[in-house]
Amino acid sequence: MYACTDKKRQELRVLETSNVTLETIGAAAQPLDAVVVGAGFAGMYSVHRLTRQGLSVQCFEAGDDVGGTWWWNRYPGAQCDVESLEYSYGFSEELQQSWRWTRKYAAQAEILAYARHVADRFDLRRHIRFGARVASVAYDEPQRLWTVVLATGEAVRARFVLMGTGNLSTPRVPDIPGLADFKGTWIHSSRWPKGEVDFTGKRVAVIGTGSTGIQIIPVVARTARQLVVFQRSPNFVVQAFNRDLDPQGVASYKAKYPQMRERARQSELGVADIDMPTRSALDDTPEQREARYEALWQRGSHPAFLCAYNDLLVNKASNDTAAEFVRRKIRAAVKDPKVAELLCPHDHPIGAKRLCAGTDYYETYNRPNVKLVDARAHPIEKITARGLVSGGVEHEVDVIIFATGFDAMTGALREIDIRGRGGVALAQQWSSGPATYLGLMVAGFPNLFLITGPGSPSVKSNVILSIEQHVDWIARCLDDMRRTGQGLIEADPLAQAQWVAHVNEVADRTLYPQTDSWYTGANVPGKPRVFMPYVGGIARYRRHCDEVAADGYRGFRLQPSGVAQPA
Ligand code: NAP
Repeated sequence: MYACTDKKRQELRVLETSNVTLETIGAAAQPLDAVVVGAGFAGMYSVHRLTRQGLSVQCFEAGDDVGGTWWWNRYPGAQCDVESLEYSYGFSEELQQSWRWTRKYAAQAEILAYARHVADRFDLRRHIRFGARVASVAYDEPQRLWTVVLATGEAVRARFVLMGTGNLSTPRVPDIPGLADFKGTWIHSSRWPKGEVDFTGKRVAVIGTGSTGIQIIPVVARTARQLVVFQRSPNFVVQAFNRDLDPQGVASYKAKYPQMRERARQSELGVADIDMPTRSALDDTPEQREARYEALWQRGSHPAFLCAYNDLLVNKASNDTAAEFVRRKIRAAVKDPKVAELLCPHDHPIGAKRLCAGTDYYETYNRPNVKLVDARAHPIEKITARGLVSGGVEHEVDVIIFATGFDAMTGALREIDIRGRGGVALAQQWSSGPATYLGLMVAGFPNLFLITGPGSPSVKSNVILSIEQHVDWIARCLDDMRRTGQGLIEADPLAQAQWVAHVNEVADRTLYPQTDSWYTGANVPGKPRVFMPYVGGIARYRRHCDEVAADGYRGFRLQPSGVAQPA
C-alpha cells in the first residue's frame, strides 16, 4: 500500500490559498471535499458546479491563468474548428445571452477572453491556485482520502479528486538527434511564448501537418523570408471559410439557444447545427455526390462535411468518394502538380484521422517562399547547429516550430503519479492501454473522476458539451451519495471490462481503428495501440450514463460513509 512516510510528511508544507488554509498530511483539520486538477473548461466548470453545491473545492492549475488548452496553445493562427456559438458553455442562459462572439470560428485570444470572463463572472479564481503543478495523487485507503502533492512538495487531502487535465495537453517533441546543438530558436506549438514571435525576414521550419501545423503554416508564410514544411503524412483539410458573425444571425440563434443546446445534447457529435444523413454515398450518382460534397465544402465545417452521408466512416468505398473530392480540391488549389500530389493523402480514409479545417492552407504552397519537404521519403535525420537534415540535405533555418502533437488522452494522466488502492500506479494499470468505466472512473481508484476520459466521447464530440455532461453527472453523483450516506464510489472491474469491450466493439465497426493516429496512440513510439474515444454517439452515451445513475449507479460499487477500509 502507498504510505506517506514521516520524512515525506516533514517535507510537505502547509499550503495556503486566499480563501482556505489547507492542512498538511496528518493534521487534524477537515480535508477538502474535492480537489480539481486543471483550470481549463473542465476544471472551471467543476469548480463552479461543486462550489454551488456547497462543497469545499480547491483547483490547481499549472499555467498562470484559466483557459487550459486555449491558454497554452497561443501559436499564430490558433483557432477553434467548432463554431463559436456551439463551442461554449450552455449551463448559464445569462452567460450565453450576454457573451458576444465575433467570428464563426473564434481565434485563441477570443476563447481565452471568454474563459477569463467566465472565471470572473462566476467568481472562480478564489478557488484556483495558478502556477501549481500537481505531481502526485495518492489514495490513503484507511482514511479514504486522496493526498494531492504539488511539484513544490505542498500537499492537501480531499475526499474526491476530479481530473480536468485535458486530452491534448502533453506536448510531444520527437526524439530527433541534435536538437540541443541547434543555435536558433525552437518552439513547440503548445508551449508558445507569450507575446508575438516575429518571423519577419526569418527562415522557419515547421514540422508537422496536423490541425496545428495547417493553422500555423499560412500565417507564418506571410512574414517569414522562407518557410520549409516537413510533412511526414499529408492530411485532409477542408476550407473553414471563417468570417465575422452577422449580428442578426447571432440574435436569431440566441433566441433559440436553449433549444439548440438541447438539440446538441441529443445529437451524434454534440453539435446542433448538423442534420444527420440517412443515405449512403453509394446511393447517389457521381453528379449528386459532387453537388452534395460541394455544398458542404462551401459551408466550411469539418463535422458537416463528414456528415454528407451516413457511411463515410464505416464504408471504405463510400469514404473514397469523399476523399477523392478533397484530393480534387487540392489539385485545383496547388499550381505545381508535384507539390499537389505530395499534399494528397492516400494513406488513410478521410476523417479517420482528425479532419482539419484551414484557411488557404493548400494555396500557401503556391507562395515562392514556401517549400514542402517529403519527410516520409526523406525522414529528418538530425538537427544541426544551423538547421535540419533530411535526405542528406541540410535546410538552414533560424526557427524550428514543432507542430508535432501530443501524447493524447492518457499523457496528462500518466504524467502525474496517480496511485489507487494498494499503491497501484495508474500508469502501470494502463500499461496495455487505458481502461475506464464510462470514461469517468477507473477500477481501483475510488472517488477519483476523469472528466472526458478515455472511453467517453470526449475528443470525438463538441468537447465543452461533453465536459458539462461529465461534470453534471459527477455533481449529481456526489449529491446522491451525500443524500444516501455513501462515502465511496468505485468502478466495478467487471462493468469496466464490459464497457471497454463495448467501446472497442463500436469502434471496430468504423474505419477509425485501422488508421495510425493519436486516437489510437500510434503517434507516440511504444504507446499501446488502443482506439481511445467512444464513438457510439453523444445522445446514446448521455442516455446510458443517466440510466446508470438512475439505476443506483449500476456498475459502480458504493460504500457507506464511515466504514473502515481494509489496509
Ligand atoms: P497531430 O494531429 O498529432 O499532428 C502532428 C504532426 O506532426 C503530424 O503531421 C505528424 O506526422 C507530425 N510529426 C510528428 N513527429 C514527426 C517527425 N518526427 N517527423 C515529421 N513529422 C512528425 O497534432 P496537432 O496538429 O497538434 O493536433 C492534435 C489535435 O489537437 C488535433 O487533431 C485536434 O483535435 C486538436 N487541435 C484542434 C485545433 C482546432 O480546433 N482548430 C487546432 C489544433 C489542434 P504523422 O501524421 O506522420 O505522425
